[in-house]
Amino acid sequence: MTSKELIQIEDKYGAHNYHPLDVVITRGQGVWVYDVDGNKYLDFLSAYSALNQGHCHPRLVAIMKEQAEKLTLTSRAFRNDQLPLLCRELCETTGFDRVLPMNSGAEAVETAIKAARKWGYKVKGVEKDKAEIIVFANNFHGRTTTIVGFSTEEQYKDGFGPFTPGFKVVEYGNIEALRQAMTENTVAVLIEPIQGEGGIIIPPQGYLEQIQDLCQEYNSLFILDEIQSGLGRCGKLFAFQYENVQPDGVIIGKALSGGLYPVSAFLAKEEVMNVFNPGDHGSTFGGNPLGSAVAREALKILVEEDLPQRAYEMGEYFVEKLRTIRSPHIKGVRGKGLLIGLELVAKAGGARRFCEALEKEGLLCKETHETVIRFAPPLIITKEDLDWAFDKIKRIMETL
Ligand SMILES: *Cc1c(COP(=O)(O)O)cnc(C)c1O
Repeated sequence: MTSKELIQIEDKYGAHNYHPLDVVITRGQGVWVYDVDGNKYLDFLSAYSALNQGHCHPRLVAIMKEQAEKLTLTSRAFRNDQLPLLCRELCETTGFDRVLPMNSGAEAVETAIKAARKWGYKVKGVEKDKAEIIVFANNFHGRTTTIVGFSTEEQYKDGFGPFTPGFKVVEYGNIEALRQAMTENTVAVLIEPIQGEGGIIIPPQGYLEQIQDLCQEYNSLFILDEIQSGLGRCGKLFAFQYENVQPDGVIIGKALSGGLYPVSAFLAKEEVMNVFNPGDHGSTFGGNPLGSAVAREALKILVEEDLPQRAYEMGEYFVEKLRTIRSPHIKGVRGKGLLIGLELVAKAGGARRFCEALEKEGLLCKETHETVIRFAPPLIITKEDLDWAFDKIKRIMETL
C-alpha cells in the first residue's frame, strides 16, 4: 500500500490524538529509516530518545528473538531469570540501590510519585493527605490524569479534570521560587534536568546542586525525570552528572529498551524504595523477562559502545556547526550532548514548516512547542551523517 492509502486508513480508524508528519515508515536500520514509497530518511528524532542505540540494533534484535522463543511473561506472581540480573546491572551501572521496573515512562513517574508520598508519610512523618510534591512550569512527565494535572500546558489538561491535588508548580531555573514554595510538607521535588518537550530548556549551571541543598534543608526527596535526558542522550549517562549531585531517585524509560519494547524504571536509594511492601504497587508486564532481557542488552550496548561519550563529542561538533549558519530565522542554538534545540525567531512562521521542508530533503525532525526544532539523532550517528544533515539544515534555513 502507498503512504497516501495508509494515511487515509489511519485517519479513518485511528483516534486523532497526534499530528504526525505524513511519512509512513516501514523499515529502519541504525540512523536511517525507509518509507513505504521507497524514500530514505535520516531519523533526527529517535522516537524522542527511545532509539539512542539506533533502529533495530542487531544485538537487540538477536536477544529479543532469543528471549521471545524462551519465555516472555510470568507476571510478578512468579519470578523470572532476567529481572534479577537487570536490577543488579542497573544498580551497578548507575549507583542506585534498588529498581522498580515498569513499562511506560508515565508509569515510572507515577511510581516515583507514590514512593515519594509514602516516604513522606511513613518516614518523614507528614500528616495524612498533606504531602506536597513540587514540580516546574513547562514540565513534561507523561500523560496520565495525575501527571497532566500538574502540567502547565493548557491543551494537555483541557477537558481532563478534576485533577489530583498535592502538587505545586514553580518557575523552572529559579531557585528563589523553589525556596519560597518549600514547606515542612514537601515530600519531593520532581524535575527534568533539561526540559526536552518544553523546548530543550537548560537551567543555570549549579541549579541542581542548589535544589539538592534545599531538599536536604527541608528533608525532601530530590527526584529527577531522566526519561529523555538520561541514558547517554546529553553526553553523560545521566544529565545530572554535569553537577555534583546524588539524587534520591531517578526515573528512566525510552532508551532503556533501545526502542524494541516498552521498559521503564524508578531507581532509588534504599530508604526510599523500602517504603514499598508486597501489594502496594505493581504492573502485569513490569519486569517481564522479554523486556528485562532487552533492557539488559540495551544497557550493555550503551556502555560497551561508549554512547554517552559519543553523544558528548558529536553534540559539541554539531552545535558548533549549527552556530555557523547565518539565517534571519534563527534565534539561537542550545543543547547538551545530542539533545539540541534550534530556536526560531517569532516571525519565522513556526517550526513545523521547517520540519516539513526538511522531511522533503530526507531529514526527519520534529518541532517542540511552536518555535523550537529538536535535533536528537541516535547516539550511534557518525560525523559523515551529521555533515549530511547539516547541509540540509543549512540549505533550508538559508532558503525557506
Ligand atoms: C517521554 C517522557 C515521559 C513519558 O514517557 P512515556 O513512555 O511516553 O509515558 C516522561 N518524562 C519525560 C521527561 C519524557 O520525555
